[in-house]
Amino acid sequence: MKIGSETQLDTIDTTDNGRINLYDLTYDELTDRLAAWGYSHYWADKVWRYLYGELATAVAAMPDLRPDLQERLVQHTHLKPLSTQLAIDSSDGYTRKFLLGLVDDEAIETVLMHFEGQEETGDAAGRATVCISTQAGCAMGCVFCATGQMGFRRHLTPGEIVGQVVHVARLLRAQGDSLRNIVLMGMGEPLHNYDQTMTAVSILMDHKGLAIAPKHITLSTVGVVPGIKRLADEERPFRLAVSLHAATDEERMALVPPARRWPLADLMDACRYYIEKRGRRIFFEWTLIEGKNDTPVQAHAVGQLLQGMDAHLNLIPLNPTTGYDGQPTRGTAVRQFQAILADYGLPSTVRQRRGIDVDAGCGQLHTKHITINNGP
Ligand code: SAH
Ligand code: SF4
Repeated sequence: MKIGSETQLDTIDTTDNGRINLYDLTYDELTDRLAAWGYSHYWADKVWRYLYGELATAVAAMPDLRPDLQERLVQHTHLKPLSTQLAIDSSDGYTRKFLLGLVDDEAIETVLMHFEGQEETGDAAGRATVCISTQAGCAMGCVFCATGQMGFRRHLTPGEIVGQVVHVARLLRAQGDSLRNIVLMGMGEPLHNYDQTMTAVSILMDHKGLAIAPKHITLSTVGVVPGIKRLADEERPFRLAVSLHAATDEERMALVPPARRWPLADLMDACRYYIEKRGRRIFFEWTLIEGKNDTPVQAHAVGQLLQGMDAHLNLIPLNPTTGYDGQPTRGTAVRQFQAILADYGLPSTVRQRRGIDVDAGCGQLHTKHITINNGP
């Protein structure tokens, strides 16, 4: 496994017959492109507003543009939506999972959730939340994760990451609702697709566009140490979640293969560096698996590991996947785990279970190759 070096995208044509995806472009890139065609900022502003204010679905739906600019855009760019291959609602009505098709017949999953609760849990509580993918599949191979079980397919482009948010934002708007939170916790490891993910997030935060506040965006990583340091050095303003799951290297390696490459000592150094440099807390995720990583001894170990750090733990009772036969920790053991963490001064939240019946819960995302096509 090579981290951050293989691009994959170099060999895949993600254009539409040579026409680039408008959602791939940052505001500055769009401005430069239009400037090269002889159009001022004024026109870039208009196009940007159509893309992210109006959520326009075609250049033809941008009536205020000069016809010559429209023609150029149609010739050189496209804004094809990701194709909806499947949309399923969970029985509680709180979650909708989409299987979205990409240009090369790969597919990804995107999950829309409605949460109630408090902001400070880092669980993006509040109004509508979208959980987006950054890769098709994942190279990291965490044993309990359906995406890990399917293996790595490819990185997503910025436009494919942004496109998932636009897709959901359009639906919400049609219902008179709006998108509040974005969590990069869908398929894939965002820091393994660092550049494309950062470009996408900057597009999503752009104050002239969707203007999603950085505090409403959470990136979750399996613990890619160089990526965490880079986030700190580049002063990326969104929230960071780190998937920990175990407090000893031996236990962690059994669940999360990248732990071999980045041992806990290095991971904790990177986390402390991030907290110090950014002045921000980190949300640590811990998938609770009965008898594996949920005993009082293990709770004390994580307490000792994180004591004194500005940390919050999100505890996620294991969601079922076909490739792993562990069981979720039950209520009493979860509460006991939390109580021990509290003794070390560590706040924790048990993540609300959402969409388990439609495989839309954490770690349940995987693409079965389905051929139904309902159109966008
Ligand atoms: N690759 C990133 C983000 C995607 S996974 C990461 O690993 O952090 C999002 C979260 O779901 C991670 O904390 C992951 O450990 C957790 N997860 C994966 N499989 C799970 C499962 N079967 N049950 C519960 N949580 C799971
Ligand atoms: Fe990849 Fe995250 Fe799943 Fe691990 S838990 S396989 S890093 S998506």
